[in-house]
Amino acid sequence: MRVCLPLFAVLLAACSTLDVAQPIDLVAGADWQPWEIQLLGSAAQCWNLRYATKLQVTQSPRSVQQVAVSYSDFICLYARGVTEPGLPVQVYLCPSRYASELRSVQERILFVLALHELGHVLNIRYHSDDANSVMAAGDAEGNVYMPVPDGFTDGDTRLFNEANPGFEPSPPGCSPVAIHTFPFGCVCGR
Ligand SMILES: [Zn+2]
Repeated sequence: MRVCLPLFAVLLAACSTLDVAQPIDLVAGADWQPWEIQLLGSAAQCWNLRYATKLQVTQSPRSVQQVAVSYSDFICLYARGVTEPGLPVQVYLCPSRYASELRSVQERILFVLALHELGHVLNIRYHSDDANSVMAAGDAEGNVYMPVPDGFTDGDTRLFNEANPGFEPSPPGCSPVAIHTFPFGCVCGR
């Protein structure tokens, strides 16, 4: 019997909303290696580039808006990533080392997971029906191979705008944004 588990999960209880117009500090766990922190920063840069948000990775948080990003073995039982929108916001990721011993695979999984969960940090509580979206619910097969989205879809933009009504940054974000691998990150344009 195949037991289907959500690839990504978000807890809807205790919802709070961050102000995406203001800096949001992402604080990685003390056990995170430099390459992991760098990937978290790359994922944050993608959102900043596309939607003009102000996610920033720091180990010395100064913003009142802080997000703790850490690994959790427990959440691996039912998801690869979970964002709890309380105060402070907590992002829990299933360690990618459980999926593969290959660093390249671990990097891809961490990048895709971080990219997705940061959407929840930016107040998105739902998933896109478009499987190509950053905010897609993900497959239920637990595949080690996690495709990297090409970019943000119309579904992602709709979810972001619905989650952040009235947010009109100046200058606006770049559109389209291409999500790249080797190295992981985003560039303005295709
Ligand atoms: Zn999700």
